[in-house]
Amino acid sequence: MTTIPKALEELVTRSQFIGADQSLVVFGGGNTSAKGEITDHLGRKKTVLWVKGSGADMTNAVAVDYPALYLEELLSLKQFEKLSDEEMTDFVGKALVDPNSRRPSIETLLHAFLPSKHIDHVHADSICALTNHKGGKKAVAEALGDGFAYVDWIRPGFELSKFSSQFSEMEGIVLAHHGLIVWDENSDVCKEKTMNAVDKANKYLDSLAVKPAAKFDHAGPSDQELNDLLLALRGKLSNKHKRVLTIDNRLQEISKRKDLPAIAEAGSSSADHMLRIRPWSAVLPEKADPTNSIPVIDKYVDRYTKYFEANKSLLPQGYSMHDPDPRVVLLPGVGTITTGSSKNEGKMLADIAFHTHSVAGKVLDSFGSADTIGDAEVFGFDYWPMELYKLSSKPKPQKFAGHVFVVTGAGSGIGRGIALELASQGASLVLADLGDEGLKETEKLIAASKGLKPEFVVGDQTKESVVIETVNSAIKNFGGFDGVVMSAGIGVSDSLETLTIDKWNQGLAVNLSSSFLITKHAMINLRKQGIGGSLVYIASKNAFSPGAGFGGYSVSKAGMLQLMRIAAIEGGSAQIRANAINPDAIFDNSKLWEGGIREQRAAAHGVKPEDLEDFYASRNMLKVHVTSKDVALTTSYLLSDESSRTTGAVIAVDGGVAAAFPR
Ligand SMILES: [Zn+2]
Repeated sequence: MTTIPKALEELVTRSQFIGADQSLVVFGGGNTSAKGEITDHLGRKKTVLWVKGSGADMTNAVAVDYPALYLEELLSLKQFEKLSDEEMTDFVGKALVDPNSRRPSIETLLHAFLPSKHIDHVHADSICALTNHKGGKKAVAEALGDGFAYVDWIRPGFELSKFSSQFSEMEGIVLAHHGLIVWDENSDVCKEKTMNAVDKANKYLDSLAVKPAAKFDHAGPSDQELNDLLLALRGKLSNKHKRVLTIDNRLQEISKRKDLPAIAEAGSSSADHMLRIRPWSAVLPEKADPTNSIPVIDKYVDRYTKYFEANKSLLPQGYSMHDPDPRVVLLPGVGTITTGSSKNEGKMLADIAFHTHSVAGKVLDSFGSADTIGDAEVFGFDYWPMELYKLSSKPKPQKFAGHVFVVTGAGSGIGRGIALELASQGASLVLADLGDEGLKETEKLIAASKGLKPEFVVGDQTKESVVIETVNSAIKNFGGFDGVVMSAGIGVSDSLETLTIDKWNQGLAVNLSSSFLITKHAMINLRKQGIGGSLVYIASKNAFSPGAGFGGYSVSKAGMLQLMRIAAIEGGSAQIRANAINPDAIFDNSKLWEGGIREQRAAAHGVKPEDLEDFYASRNMLKVHVTSKDVALTTSYLLSDESSRTTGAVIAVDGGVAAAFPR
């Protein structure tokens, strides 16, 4: 076992401290380093630089995030007049002690060329607020004293590293529109110097801050208005790729300001924010409804496209325009709506937007107006090959990334199997069931397979209020939905002569009327969203091939098929598809067989209850057990675009039962 050198250990601890404060760095921003000695693989003592790996998040910093580089190799690069990003990255890569370690930060040479043992480079909000206006240099001198060098915007790379190295005798460096660099021989003192500078900047800003522009008096949208807006936005923004919308209220105060458009126009507080949230955010009108909000998105796309066209000559070869949709939408009275492939991504974008726009608010309050780095520089960063490389090395998105589905009966049996399958393909899910015990178990299984955390709705889906709550949960949490799987169901045994009306009614309510209510409210909202959708009805082999003594069940499932057909007919004009699956004899995790149903069905077929599964398997053509996973795979197909030309269909998942062939 190798021991971690002391300097590296101190670096990791300091980085965790810095990473924990988002007003210093957000999601992979900023970097820290230390210099020290190692004994290399040939037993020689060598001086190295440990610097943060590219894209590593300091919050959970560990030693392997900090690749070691031979310092002598890095320092000899100082002899060059100029190095392109590619040449620099190539040379820096050759200085790695372990060529297989994490790719070091693009700002590695900044750390190498400054001689101090410990260096912090943060993208602190308060420092950026000092610089993001016309009088940045003066403000920095007034706030931090004349010990700090002020460097105008230069994109990170060789030039910035070499230029900054001349200030090593000073206390630190402020990089305009970017952040702060401080250093010391002692790790704790280095950290204190970072915190001191940030503190001084905050105090200075507070001393200048004028009262924010008068707030408008607006209660914000009602729940229904917000739902309609979210559906329209999700429809608009999910045109090419499905997206999850996330609402965040931290910018609610700022969103109420009259100068909100100026805040959005101030752009990213620290340049690297724009890589995640785009150079600008979209601003919706004060009373945002679908009619006046959709044109704002169109205008945004138009502006981004024009900006791309105007600066295209700067585009490195082999790259094309990013998707021009906004990532952050500012909604007056509410805060931000962010888009992403999951709520996790939406939350990350909301965190960055919170810092970027809060800084812009601070700049306007303290200095009256903001100043940005200009479109050509923005473009240079937006399409920086070093960052495009990171994008290209991202894994391919999962099949259901950004997709949202509602699954009823998800606490057991087929519903659980479907939830697990959809989650394994990256879907965001709203899971509904009568009790929460089964749902919690489903959630545990989803977490174990690294699926996204689902939302729950606990309640009786035969009640219209619960159905509405279920659909609204998808809208409120994810901005809308792409499909609903109706999987909740109960068995209803007894012959017609012994079946009570109560039992008959209950079977109809759970298996059929509930599906009607879900269909109704799903269709109303899918139509508002405007990008179609898929309804999947989990019916039964019994719908086509009923058995004696199981009439209540068979009738309800036959009714479900007819409901599906009507939904297909009425939904077609809105690209809403409806299809059914007829499974047979699914036993895994299923509650359908509880309460005497297994015994009763076994008796009806003249076999022992424990032999029922084998009996059903022996009865089908393929002689197989059918599982919830088999039903889930067919459901996944019906929810996806792979079945985009199929509606009004019934697919049997029963191992082959001639009497139940769809007809
Ligand atoms: Zn930086």
